[in-house]
Amino acid sequence: MDAVAPNVRGLRIAFVNVFAVTHADGSWTLVDAAVPFTDGMIRRWAEHHFTRPPNAIVLTHGHFDHVSAAPSLSETWKVPVYAHALEFPYLTGEREYPAPNVGAGGGMMSLLSPLYPKGPVNLTGRLVELSTGMSQLMPGWEVIHTPGHTPGHCSLYQASDRTLLVGDAFCTTKPESFFEASIAQAPELHGPPAYFTSDWAAAQASVERLSAMDVAVVAPGHGKPLAGEDLGAELRLLAARFRAVAVPENRLSSV
Ligand SMILES: [Zn+2]
Ligand SMILES: [Zn+2]
Repeated sequence: MDAVAPNVRGLRIAFVNVFAVTHADGSWTLVDAAVPFTDGMIRRWAEHHFTRPPNAIVLTHGHFDHVSAAPSLSETWKVPVYAHALEFPYLTGEREYPAPNVGAGGGMMSLLSPLYPKGPVNLTGRLVELSTGMSQLMPGWEVIHTPGHTPGHCSLYQASDRTLLVGDAFCTTKPESFFEASIAQAPELHGPPAYFTSDWAAAQASVERLSAMDVAVVAPGHGKPLAGEDLGAELRLLAARFRAVAVPENRLSSV
């Protein structure tokens, strides 16, 4: 995947993406930290592209496929881990996310199970609230709270080139196809991963909020990054048709 935008580089590991955001002074920030046992891979990728560790690890949310390498990497690099305060309980072992919606269709649960970590991630002592210190940490970037997939889910937006990192607010590959994403398929917009989305009304409101923004590049947690002038229109279409295309049948009554 590599270059997503002039100062954003992506690495796809298995079915999930992590991103490196470079700043004008040469510092950089790692966004998300993938599945278990990927810390070595992320570190080698970082060392290949950068001569110094990142200034921080920023998490879009606390699901295991976005955070698992964070404890080891933050320890090795001696950097803080930023997340929205509403994700803190899930990042300190205090609380567990609601059970996945196994009725959402497809066989992804069983496909994912070998990757499940044995216990919850514990980042106690390393967490910093994402809303604070952002202008210093990632100059030019704005944190957008996009709850629904999880309570403290956040997206990141860079106005200068209209780049949007959306985490799991929505995907550019069908969640059922995560494992085949390398096989050519027309990139298109899909809802958030259904198995792990807890509040569909909030998830819809978040996509509506993102669709109101001026966007030229979208980089999701799952799927290929997309660029183009029709992206905004596609995003508005996803928001308008959210109930029909994103919400699983067994959760329609909640929206
Ligand atoms: Zn997630
Ligand atoms: Zn995810």
